[in-house]
Amino acid sequence: MRRCPLCHNDQAELSFQDKKRGFYLCPECRLLFADSSSYLLPDAEKQRYGRARQTGKQKQLARFIHPLLDQLQSLQPTPLFGLNFGRVLSEDGLKQIRDAGHHLQQFDPFFAADHQLLHHQYDFICCFRVFEHFRTPAKEWSLIETLLKPGGWLAISTPLLTSLAAFPKWHYKNNPTHVSFYQQQTFAYLASQGKFRLIFAAQDFILMQKTSGSAITRDLDAEPPLVD
Ligand SMILES: [Zn+2]
Repeated sequence: MRRCPLCHNDQAELSFQDKKRGFYLCPECRLLFADSSSYLLPDAEKQRYGRARQTGKQKQLARFIHPLLDQLQSLQPTPLFGLNFGRVLSEDGLKQIRDAGHHLQQFDPFFAADHQLLHHQYDFICCFRVFEHFRTPAKEWSLIETLLKPGGWLAISTPLLTSLAAFPKWHYKNNPTHVSFYQQQTFAYLASQGKFRLIFAAQDFILMQKTSGSAITRDLDAEPPLVD
């Protein structure tokens, strides 16, 4: 048994074991997560991310962000102030976005860790191929929640796990930096906690909206949030 790093249920059972890692399934939020004893050491992890930054991910990232901005703009036709969380777009890619009139800040814990950016709130946050790297997804989830304005949008790109039976053959699990695998039910669970609405979750795209009723918790002197 393991403790789920997302919902903290402590009844997660071993679901699959390969030569290198054990994967545990949470019975509550349905997260499938790698055993923490198999995590890469920080230097090895950073080196892998550095390699990924130089290769084809930039184009994919741009292909994710551009249509997303168009979509968000159609949902909320005012200038949007956003945060790209976890995987940074190159200066060229960013320039295109700024030229189109959008405001996008970027935060990457390894290569662009400007913590000042975590003291603002955003109309939207996008996370491209980032969630699968979270070792403590509860922590990142709660950070993302505080960073979003009420009514703000959260767009996530991570390949959803659609079949536990097919997991042993899923190539996506072979990258040792991929440690958290989400099912559609995982995002339904997160939405059921009351702070988010799940709008869409299929294949590798998840769109959620922070409910406007939730009080901002960053201001510790504010009134406590009402319980829904
Ligand atoms: Zn869980």
